[in-house]
Amino acid sequence: MTKDAFNKVTSTNPNEPEFHQAVKEVFDSLIPVMEKHPEFRAAKILERIAEPERVIMFSVPWVDDRGEVQVNKGFRIEMNSAIGPYKGGLRFHPTVNLSILKFLAFEQIFKNSLTTLPLGGGKGGSNFDPKGKSDNEVMRFCQAFMRELFRHLGPNTDVPAGDIGVGGREIGYLFGSYKKLANEFTGVLTGKGGNWGGSLIRPEATGYGAVYFAEEMLKANGKDLKGKACLISGSGNVAQFAAEKVLDLGGKVVTFSDSSGFIYDEQGIDRDKLAFVMELKNVKRGRIKEFADKYNSAVYTPVDANADHNPLWGVKADVGLPCATQNEINAKDAQNMINNGVMCVSEGANMPTQPAAMELFLDKGVLFGPGKASNAGGVAVSGLEMSQNSLRLSWTREEVDNRLHNIMKAIHKNSLEAAKTYAKTDKEVNYVNGANIAGFLKVANAMLDQGVI
Ligand code: GLU
Repeated sequence: MTKDAFNKVTSTNPNEPEFHQAVKEVFDSLIPVMEKHPEFRAAKILERIAEPERVIMFSVPWVDDRGEVQVNKGFRIEMNSAIGPYKGGLRFHPTVNLSILKFLAFEQIFKNSLTTLPLGGGKGGSNFDPKGKSDNEVMRFCQAFMRELFRHLGPNTDVPAGDIGVGGREIGYLFGSYKKLANEFTGVLTGKGGNWGGSLIRPEATGYGAVYFAEEMLKANGKDLKGKACLISGSGNVAQFAAEKVLDLGGKVVTFSDSSGFIYDEQGIDRDKLAFVMELKNVKRGRIKEFADKYNSAVYTPVDANADHNPLWGVKADVGLPCATQNEINAKDAQNMINNGVMCVSEGANMPTQPAAMELFLDKGVLFGPGKASNAGGVAVSGLEMSQNSLRLSWTREEVDNRLHNIMKAIHKNSLEAAKTYAKTDKEVNYVNGANIAGFLKVANAMLDQGVI
């Protein structure tokens, strides 16, 4: 019966491959759950959970620095509100389309459920590319984007945050614009600045969380991160703070990348080198290539658009932390990782591992933390930011970091327990199934309780 529900998704949402991929993975995990729960079948929970409750599409006209009129697409997918207000980031990237945002919004339902906090699922964004734009252009774009979106938001309705291309700068402009239009200062976006309602540790949370999750998987197998070489892809917010936490826990970071290429530093990227990357990416908005210009221990390899694999994933290492974007690891990359010693993968990005690559990791016994579980730390601290805003209080770094750490431990435990309950054999440890099932059950039961609405 998961097959019928999946066929309905593909036939009613044609040409949306990323969305189909995300739904298929979840529905496959749910086969034993649906067998055990006829009440979910009767209430058509699968058909309903894959149908966005609301999709908002709008035009975003704005004027660039040369005085030329530009127009971009704006979207917000309000996917599911069974357990809380719609919650999820905004992505500004030229590849943004309905398929990408529906996959992200769908993932967000289960991820947010796993955080243990009352958060529904949503996602939004635009095909606007902040790369190469001036601060003023970014501001004008954000104001134009919010001019339409603001009427759909509210602290108890829909609370966006950042994602690729949307960081502190963009959240600032979006919030300023929301406040003006709504004539109200409320916690309607998360990832805000510390002086105006943001939570400490929010910038760090996704990266820290992905490493906490890796640590939990290793610990469950009598291992830890000490002395382990880690491959990190990306060099944005998630990658940077994943690196920081790897260093805190005694591991070694050897790679970073961006859309142009990657750097490999055999000696390891220490705290000074990491500070250079943070300055380069967050302040100068430069390219990762400049790392190799500065440090001669590093080698830079540009992206080869025609290659069938990414050589970053062929570097000898113990742990893989994909923190760039969806589908960045294919089957060949996964095989290269396994051949070169990787025994643990924790996804910092959303759906960075292609289905065939995931199969390989699971078959070969690589400890594999799926993004829904392993990168949930970001949205978890967003949930904590919402709590602090409601209380009109702000917690200390230690308080938020402790809560984050405990949430990541709980996600690991709940995913592992669900994985074991539904495992086909005693030996099987499948965090993909575990995370999908644990995330689903809470939402499905809430949908049942609330009736057909
Ligand atoms: N975009 C992030 C994610 O993929 C964070 C969302 C949020 O904080 O609402 O989970």
